[in-house]
Amino acid sequence: MKAVTIQMLHKLFSFFKEQCPHCKAELVLTDDTMTCCKECPHGHYRIETHPHLDVQIETHHYKDGGC
Ligand SMILES: [Zn+2]
Repeated sequence: MKAVTIQMLHKLFSFFKEQCPHCKAELVLTDDTMTCCKECPHGHYRIETHPHLDVQIETHHYKDGGC
């Protein structure tokens, strides 16, 4: 049953495929205890989803003159 749940989550996340607003790279899903985090592979951008709070937190690590 657990495997099925993970597959469904994976399907959901691939459906909501997101891109880094800075370099357009596909965000990478990272596992966390209570949150679902997606990050730019180049570290520009990070979005945390807190399903239990129904909020999303966006973090930008982009510095001018980067990309
Ligand atoms: Zn990026």
